[in-house]
Amino acid sequence: MSDWKKATELVHAGARRSQYGEMSEAIFLTQGFVYDSAEAAEARFIAAGPDEFIYARYGNPTVRMFEERMSVIEGTEDAFATASGMAAVNGALSALLKAGDHVVSSRALFGSCLYVLEILARFGVEVSFVDGTDLDQWRAAVRPDTRAVFLESVSNPTLEVIDVRAVAAIAHAHGALVIVDNVFATPIFSKAVSLGADVVVYSATKHIDGGGRCLGGVVCGSRDYIRKVLEPYLKHTGAALSPFNAWVMLKGLETLDLRVNRQAETALSVARGLEGHARLDRVIYPGLPGHPHHGVAMDQMGSGGTVVSLEVAGGQAAAFRFLNALKIVKISNNLGDAKSIVTHPATTTHQRLAPEQRESLGITPGLVRLSLGLEDAGDLLADLQQALAAV
Ligand SMILES: *Cc1c(COP(=O)(O)O)cnc(C)c1O
Repeated sequence: MSDWKKATELVHAGARRSQYGEMSEAIFLTQGFVYDSAEAAEARFIAAGPDEFIYARYGNPTVRMFEERMSVIEGTEDAFATASGMAAVNGALSALLKAGDHVVSSRALFGSCLYVLEILARFGVEVSFVDGTDLDQWRAAVRPDTRAVFLESVSNPTLEVIDVRAVAAIAHAHGALVIVDNVFATPIFSKAVSLGADVVVYSATKHIDGGGRCLGGVVCGSRDYIRKVLEPYLKHTGAALSPFNAWVMLKGLETLDLRVNRQAETALSVARGLEGHARLDRVIYPGLPGHPHHGVAMDQMGSGGTVVSLEVAGGQAAAFRFLNALKIVKISNNLGDAKSIVTHPATTTHQRLAPEQRESLGITPGLVRLSLGLEDAGDLLADLQQALAAV
């Protein structure tokens, strides 16, 4: 779509300038647009041109810059921005599906993604869950009438890596659309489209903002899917991204390559530094050769990502003592932030699940998710080690 390398696209793609030639992307903080005449208003409602907007719920110049930059980076024809990552996941699925349709989804999902699938089931969509890392289960579940498959390319919080190329081949053999929630891969390590994904979804709240400021999301896909399937659903249901938040995300994209690569380097050095620690039963990081999906991770991301999960020996009490002893790393539930963040999934993000469900997903009482930030890697390792000593 462009001859530029990703680092250049992250800074320049999709930029639009007003008659003032401003250097930094302008924030068009406006809900609406003025028409020169009644006829012009009528014409725009029939067919809006590329530089014509109607209402910020449908589109806005600042939001459009973010959408265009994302579609160029991801290698899709188009993109649509949303108010949050969950609005993107819900839109990507709900805009497509109707009662009687069949969907196959990997089981290891972010709690809210699971909830969206439960809502769809309530409206008559048939949902089959599989172990996303077991290709035989995908082969058995995908049928000629399967409309879509849904998966998180790297699962939250257990960091299983799904072979997107293999799943896409199975899905495409039956004409199903492949929808990938790619948050943990980030747009930097993503090769989702070349692996066969049709629709790629991000929570921009995570690495794209990268400073923990705003909620946002984006769906990337073909022009037909984005404009004919997704846009009508989203523009009438109202999960539009605020122009201010779109501007924050555009600025986030400018530094995304630097931040994510640095965070992934830190994640690898922290994972190596903690491997074999006496207070840990397991260090889970796809970038470590011992991770069960290390090969897939390297093939489809070239990195283990920016998150490390730890299984603290001694269950919830030990995990809580570890969290409470950390000085630099903050207890919260975001990820991809400049600040390192630690989360205890079983009692927070995945609290809603039944204990058996948590068990089957590997979310044990000792499991801790660690999102590495931009602090000094040595300082972080020292903080983690002193907190483990306090366990
Ligand atoms: C955070 C997250 C979401 C939801 O994004 P929000 O911006 O919080 O709505 C969806 N999927 C995954 C994998 C996430 O990590």
